[in-house]
Amino acid sequence: MDYQAKIARNVAAIPRSGIRDFFELVQGREDVISLGVGEPDFTTPWHIREAAIYSLEKGQTTYTSNLGLLSLRKSISRYVGDFFDVAYDPAGEILVTVGVSEAIDIALRALLNPGDEVIYHEPCYVSYSPSIAMAHGVGVAVETTKEDGFSLKPEKLAAAITPRTRVVFLNFPTNPTGAVATLEDLQGIAKLAIEHDLIVLTDEIYSELRYDGVKHVSIASLPGMKERTILLHGFSKAFAMTGFRLGYACAPQPIIEAMMKIHQYSMLCAPIMSQNAAVEALENGAPAVEEMRASYHQRRDFLVKRLNEIGLECHTPGGAFYVFPDIRSTGLSSKDFAMKLLEAENVAAVPGNAFGPSGEGFLRCCYATAFDDIRTATDRMERFLSRL
Ligand code: PLP
Repeated sequence: MDYQAKIARNVAAIPRSGIRDFFELVQGREDVISLGVGEPDFTTPWHIREAAIYSLEKGQTTYTSNLGLLSLRKSISRYVGDFFDVAYDPAGEILVTVGVSEAIDIALRALLNPGDEVIYHEPCYVSYSPSIAMAHGVGVAVETTKEDGFSLKPEKLAAAITPRTRVVFLNFPTNPTGAVATLEDLQGIAKLAIEHDLIVLTDEIYSELRYDGVKHVSIASLPGMKERTILLHGFSKAFAMTGFRLGYACAPQPIIEAMMKIHQYSMLCAPIMSQNAAVEALENGAPAVEEMRASYHQRRDFLVKRLNEIGLECHTPGGAFYVFPDIRSTGLSSKDFAMKLLEAENVAAVPGNAFGPSGEGFLRCCYATAFDDIRTATDRMERFLSRL
């Protein structure tokens, strides 16, 4: 059978993930230090794991309401109110999802008609462009640059808006650059969204991981924005709960209702044990989050300093757990650089072009890894550069 002919055209057109290709090469190599995987190196705090165990022990192993446990939605409402300074009603403005990944997928599917344009800033998280295509939308990438601190400048956004634009998709702090948007940029983006009557989809999964004493500001909290914003957040990063597969969307009730239509038939609900653990995370997890954040902060400072010392120019990112050094001075493409570094020194970092063409000339290094490994990796990178 010609299976390719049986695959939907919009799915067949999606290229294989550059990250997947790269990690297939890493598999099976010994003594590799990985600055590659975007996952916390901490184990989920014990009290949160205990809440999941307790859920099982009590026999709470059932479906929940499609929206998610009311107790969890109440905790989310309180947490988001305190942290993001936006009030969402647990009864109809919050939907618990299977990770932010599901929330991205169903938000786009709920919003887009075929051919609608979604503007996103690039380099960006690998799922954005494919998720837009799978929802039959058209992705419009706006390049962000090192000079702009990888923030989305309102002028660039304005130039990309067309009559087909329906959604502006933001992610600050950004994977892969660690960039944060200035308040001025957020205000400019909000003004354009209001003027052009656009929906803003904002993935703020790294919002707790901010450094230098700066507090996160969500675009949802700016005047006139709650009514046109879908705020996505989750537990994977700040709470080190990637395997629990839990996230949530906060949005006006009609949008949550539309997302629910898809969620109830495709997922039904998120796992109840994870939901019970998430209540514990939100109610009592703050000290553990702060401990992890402080540790990432130290590692960020060390890694940025070392990369600049060894000649890989690197801005100081304000959030997440990634740095994005400029490797253009080596004359190598990002893929060649990453491959040669892996072959010569057994250090894995992701080529910047895995995050879209705007990432070419850069390398994503994740510092959610042991301090000693970061030190050894940078020593090996120094040796690699000296031999180029
Ligand atoms: N959004 C961004 C920006 C990410 O970096 C990731 C994971 O790396 C996700 C979403 C996926 O999050 P989740 O584990 O909640 O599905």
